[in-house]
Amino acid sequence: MIQITNFTASSKIAKKYNIKTHKLIIVKSSNLKSKMTYEGVLAKMQTEFGNPIQYYLIFENSFLNVNQLLNKEIEISFVGYQCLNCNKKKKIFRQGFCYDCFYSSPAVGDWIMRPELSTAHLGIADRDLDYETKVQLQPHVVYLALSSDVKVGVTRKTQVPTRWIDQGACEAVSIVEVPNRYLAGITEVVLKNHFVDKTNWRKMLQNEVLTLDLLAEKTRIFEYLPEEVKPYFNADLNEHFILNYPVLQHPKKVTGLNLDKTNHFKGKLIGIKGQYLIFEDGTVFNIRSFEGYVVSMDV
Ligand SMILES: [Zn+2]
Repeated sequence: MIQITNFTASSKIAKKYNIKTHKLIIVKSSNLKSKMTYEGVLAKMQTEFGNPIQYYLIFENSFLNVNQLLNKEIEISFVGYQCLNCNKKKKIFRQGFCYDCFYSSPAVGDWIMRPELSTAHLGIADRDLDYETKVQLQPHVVYLALSSDVKVGVTRKTQVPTRWIDQGACEAVSIVEVPNRYLAGITEVVLKNHFVDKTNWRKMLQNEVLTLDLLAEKTRIFEYLPEEVKPYFNADLNEHFILNYPVLQHPKKVTGLNLDKTNHFKGKLIGIKGQYLIFEDGTVFNIRSFEGYVVSMDV
């Protein structure tokens, strides 16, 4: 059986098989070894909306289409740290950033997690007004997503449907599209009284999802909206996203892999959902939690 994959060919294998393109042909045969080692800094997987969704791990000189690794054994080893912001080999504090970067970079200000704290629309800086103006003063969407329960959330319009994929939502609908992050934030604040704003990752991975009509939920939301947001509600905009993940089998029990405690892990990949790799033994690896960690992966 010959399978063309998106692995970037190592020069040795490329030479052996006379491969001149960036595609590596893996010949599955008992006397041929097709293991390859990738090493690099983890950053969240890039995704492509499709049926199923496609996932990519991007390293400095190579990339991996993770879907191709389903049903295969993967080895993950912790190598070190590299801050996604300053590139220094410093211990990661949060969100892929070292301590100093986390408390100085405008990319991780409080308004990221709490959009209602955005102030660029008033011309007021948090850490860097230029950066904040660029990110905050652009169309934002407040949405309802079904990942386990119905969840309310905020995202930049350009991040639709990426944001939903990252959360492992099975379905999502936009509620309002507003011109800046602040308006989206105050909408989310009031809707948090009616919906959760966190994903239950265990239920999401186990596919314990509520059955519910998201569009019906949307219609009952209008009365809760802040007055200044009501004009942006469009009841006729009923685009309903359905998201299908490459999961061969949903785990019954899940245990998170923690690279700080377990430096080495080996397991058979049986699914990818949200930013999680799901393994046959119930281990799940949240790539997002280990951004900035340098790992080697044998696949
Ligand atoms: Zn740093």
